[in-house]
Amino acid sequence: MINVLFAAADIRWDVYKDALPVAFEKAGLDVDLSRDHDPSVVDYIVYAPNSGLTDFTPFTRAKAVLNLWAGVEDVAGNQTLTIPLARMVETGLRDGMVEWVTGHVLRHHLGIDKNLKQQDGAWRQQVPPLAKDRPVTVLGLGELGATCGRMLAALKFPVTGWSRSQKDIPGITCLSGDDLDLALARADILVLLLPLTGETTNILNAERIAMMPKGAIVINPGRGALIDDDALLAALDSGHLSHATLDVFRKEPLPSDHPYWKHPQVTVTPHIASETRADTASDAIADNIKRGESGLPFVNVVDRDLGY
Ligand code: NDP
Repeated sequence: MINVLFAAADIRWDVYKDALPVAFEKAGLDVDLSRDHDPSVVDYIVYAPNSGLTDFTPFTRAKAVLNLWAGVEDVAGNQTLTIPLARMVETGLRDGMVEWVTGHVLRHHLGIDKNLKQQDGAWRQQVPPLAKDRPVTVLGLGELGATCGRMLAALKFPVTGWSRSQKDIPGITCLSGDDLDLALARADILVLLLPLTGETTNILNAERIAMMPKGAIVINPGRGALIDDDALLAALDSGHLSHATLDVFRKEPLPSDHPYWKHPQVTVTPHIASETRADTASDAIADNIKRGESGLPFVNVVDRDLGY
């Protein structure tokens, strides 16, 4: 019997208490899934940061912490965690992000807002350019960034991607390291899909926003603190940027008096770009436990030095 502790908020338990056992059974794993295991008997911890669990030292037998989310900024630096930490990679999360990013890129590219606002009886033919003439830059070419980049490239947007290590992805101009300036200079539409780490905090600051073309659009489904909020608001007010679509914020829920809510050039979505889907996420968790039980290395293990 494998003891799995579910350490996440009640609303997650409501979903995963049914989804995880299905996945464990499919994987042929004999699991006792509980929210109340004694720490000394726990083999694996399914974890989300809002669970209240911050001290991993009592889990003397645990082999891995399996994070429910893709982002690990709240746990990667936890000094009491000395066993492998795996982040969430699963098809539902990927598909959701591709749909959200593509939808918001197309909204801006096609000028859909203008059509919605101008339905006033006047026949104005304003034909949008083709995607091939609208360069898009994606910062972060990981599971989500690369998948979104591929979809945008399939729609014929000229896609530039930027990551820490150099990539080779068909259809995407891949830049890395010091070439961030170049990636930003090409960004009529910029999509941020970087993890939040010491290196990426405030990566989109005033200086870097100034490198982007006038009238550019920022779409952020990554993490709120990737952007210097004051710099973004100043660039929107000055007209250097024409719009920002933001899904993630330094403080969530976004306080009701935050200027983003009322800004005419800001679209706020409440951290819904993509959610871990219980069925496919449970399969991913079961797969990693099965690997652990078979003596295979875990997949999607976080590099604690890099923070993602
Ligand atoms: P990955 O870890 O797969 O990819 C991260 C990418 O960012 C990699 O390409 C990595 O480069 C690059 N990167 C990291 N640090 C740097 C740096 N200092 N300089 C340049 N590039 C860097 O993450 P995912 O694609 O799975 O997820 C990305 C983020 O999306 C998550 O961390 C999370 O914050 C956010 N997210 C948001 C959701 C939402 O609903 N809004 C849902 C899910 C995730 P390299 O490839 O060289 O390592």
